[in-house]
Amino acid sequence: MNESGCTTEEGLRRELVRFSRWLSRLGFTPGTSGNLSVRLDSRRLLVTPTGVSKGLVKASDMVIVDLHGRLLAGSRKVTSEISMHLAVYGQRQDVGAVVHSHPPTATAFACSGRALDEILCQEAVMTVGAVPLASYAITGTAEVAASMRPFISEHDAILLENHGAVSYGVTLLEAFMKMETVEHLAHVALVAHQLGSARPLGRDQVQQLQSARTKYVENVQEEGLSPQSGERTGRTYSD
Ligand SMILES: [Zn+2]
Repeated sequence: MNESGCTTEEGLRRELVRFSRWLSRLGFTPGTSGNLSVRLDSRRLLVTPTGVSKGLVKASDMVIVDLHGRLLAGSRKVTSEISMHLAVYGQRQDVGAVVHSHPPTATAFACSGRALDEILCQEAVMTVGAVPLASYAITGTAEVAASMRPFISEHDAILLENHGAVSYGVTLLEAFMKMETVEHLAHVALVAHQLGSARPLGRDQVQQLQSARTKYVENVQEEGLSPQSGERTGRTYSD
């Protein structure tokens, strides 16, 4: 399902193309890196294939896999990073879409052994919260999923040590916006520390923001919107 309620396979193929292009334009998926997936139904996922630029991928390139990552349909190969996606879907029934990319500043934190767990700006509390760092694992192996597992249930975005980031949400739009937010928070943290006087929020300030967020989410749910799409309805993600 996308933000406009799309659930057809054709519509979801278009959504994967749309957010692949957005990731590419933001410089989060250099070369053929990065991959996106979305639930088609209770036993199948629609996924970007391996070896294709996210700026050039087409709706017909997408592959369909089962919840073990086995190819069910499509002429291209399944990404070697599929286990990352399967780990999230297996642990989070509420998740409908997963995005993996290599946003440069967030990846630099991950390459420096640093989580984004210092709450510097209010936006962090209102969106993804603290972003943990999953320990080093060789890409394309089952080690990646194992390194993420301790964090999946409590977080919607995770840094992968010496690798990149993964984010997820009910829709592709939500998963994409979380990835965009992770990179923004990493950039803010980098510059705040370069300025030499970063002032993290205190525990009381974080708790006040968390209760404000809870009220906000309740209001948004009464209006029938997801928190993130409610926040950003003014922005459109066209092709
Ligand atoms: Zn990767």
